[in-house]
Amino acid sequence: MHLVFIGAHPDDEASAGGTIAKYVDNGHRATVVVATRGGRGHWEMPSEELERVRTEEMKKAAEILGAEVVFLDYKDADVPAGDDLREELVDVVRGLRPDIVITFHPLVWRDDHRRVGLAAADACFKACLPLVETRHPAHRPVPDIYFVGSPMLPVQPDTYIDITDYVDVKIESLRQHASQLVKWEIDEDDSTAPLEEVIERVRHRARQLGVESGVRYAEAFISQRGKKRALELFPARD
Ligand SMILES: [Zn+2]
Repeated sequence: MHLVFIGAHPDDEASAGGTIAKYVDNGHRATVVVATRGGRGHWEMPSEELERVRTEEMKKAAEILGAEVVFLDYKDADVPAGDDLREELVDVVRGLRPDIVITFHPLVWRDDHRRVGLAAADACFKACLPLVETRHPAHRPVPDIYFVGSPMLPVQPDTYIDITDYVDVKIESLRQHASQLVKWEIDEDDSTAPLEEVIERVRHRARQLGVESGVRYAEAFISQRGKKRALELFPARD
């Protein structure tokens, strides 16, 4: 089985890092698709240099999770809305042939995330239409699409994945995105250590989701089909 996470920036996959690591550890394949190389995620580092840094960070983070990486090279903070992105993702889905796709919910606040999530969900269907021609042949409809759960969304998660055994791997992978775990110097002066703050927030959130689902640590998703299908995320090894 093949799990594909489709995100906008290097580090977006961290929201599903425990699930990806668990999936791989259960004998399956995982790929992280990143629409951009995150070239605007810094207050002063030039964009090209930042893209190089974040490309390497993404590769290391994915390696820790056991996932492959595909970069699409859209411009950070300028991911296009609409048909071009969807057509590109149709071909990506056909090339990767996923059984499960995790992406952003189309109602998330940030435009890059929203655009990627909407295009990815639409592409998962459109990829099955043989008369829609792209470089790769048509793929069957992706049976399971999940959106990353967030307290900012009006839709509640319906799928919790127990990541108790993978929370440390999730955090170790997140730590690779070091360029993102620093304090922006346009902020007010503050002596706190942002890296450990972010790590603590991530661990706390996983613990909260664990409490909600009766385990120690969890990640939460919204099934596109509105069903609780957590077990189907982890079929037996084939
Ligand atoms: Zn992002």
